[in-house]
Amino acid sequence: MRVLSGMRPTGKLHLGHYFGVIKNWLKLQDEHETLFMVADWHALTTGYKKVEEIPQNIEDMVVDWLSLGIDPQKSLLFQQSKVKEHAELFLLFSMITPKSWLEWNPTYKDTKYNLLRISDLELMFKGGVRDLVREFLAKLPYKVEDFEALEEFFLDALSDTLIQSVFEGYIERDLLRELNVSKRDFYDTDTYGFLGYPVLQAVDILIYKANAVPVGEDQLPHIELSREISRRFNNLYGETFPEPQAMLTETPKLPGIDGRKMSKSYNNAIYFADTEEELRQKVMRFFTDPKKLRRGDPGRPEICPVFFYHKIFTEQERVQEIERDCTAGKLGCVDCKKLMFEGLNGFLRPVREKRQEILEDRKRVWEILGVGSERASLMAKDTMEEVRERIRVG
Ligand code: SF4
Repeated sequence: MRVLSGMRPTGKLHLGHYFGVIKNWLKLQDEHETLFMVADWHALTTGYKKVEEIPQNIEDMVVDWLSLGIDPQKSLLFQQSKVKEHAELFLLFSMITPKSWLEWNPTYKDTKYNLLRISDLELMFKGGVRDLVREFLAKLPYKVEDFEALEEFFLDALSDTLIQSVFEGYIERDLLRELNVSKRDFYDTDTYGFLGYPVLQAVDILIYKANAVPVGEDQLPHIELSREISRRFNNLYGETFPEPQAMLTETPKLPGIDGRKMSKSYNNAIYFADTEEELRQKVMRFFTDPKKLRRGDPGRPEICPVFFYHKIFTEQERVQEIERDCTAGKLGCVDCKKLMFEGLNGFLRPVREKRQEILEDRKRVWEILGVGSERASLMAKDTMEEVRERIRVG
């Protein structure tokens, strides 16, 4: 089976990327024919104003892929923009894709809002909205089953309200300026390219006749769209493309140091490029159970981000002990974090060392991408010859 997956080059990878994507890629490359793409044209759909960062972001990302064990002997690593056939097929698919398929695509609508939400939330968090929400929730006179989920729910609702209030004109110009938000920001994603990016994704998959694509649940509509485009092309011009299957992958939400989902935009991430000292400092800044103020206070490991990490990185016998001692008020958060650091650092140390080794020969990263892109081009050329013949143009 041929499996294709890609990442937009957003720079250095963090632990969230590992658990969300790379861990799965490592398994896939041992079991299938795998193509891993640097989606640099996709980076332009939302980042067309910051092109100067793209080459460095590509290098940083691929250095991390390699450090984490993505193996160019097993997988084909390539750069999307080096395979120009993507652009040709994108144009041809654009001719046959009904506009409504794109406008009604739920991820298009969500992403458009999410992009706004992330930057707006960031600004709101600076004003301490999260703290206010936490304080408010802590005072609720009933037991909250899932504190974290309720907190996210409140914050989502608040951000939606803020966005809505901008559109409705309730937020005054002065305040927008103070928040460093301009109305233009809201139109940044109102482009033809952004609307059409699922078509480009369909191209990425179909041009290599990939049979499967690993995705999280939120990406399912995109795969469905690729299948629909494939069907439509085949119906119009004859059997050419396979219908790619979604390989649904569980992606656990890894908390960042402030307990929110780990994300570069939240500035709460642990990077593979972090030094041991930077890691230590981040671990010591981790949020814990807000009700456990002193060592003797009983804690709630089930809501504590530090404990979440213990479950992954600490030996299992110790984890039970930590849970017991935290709940009984026998363990202080500082000592608990020190223990967590040991486990996490044990996982990150070899990656850091490998990273250093790769960085000493950066040229090699681009060579790997260059060779991979040439091989990918040959595959894409074959498909395009077939497509041109079918479509009688080109
Ligand atoms: S003792 Fe550990 S698990 Fe318990 S609240 Fe503190 S950091 Fe979290």
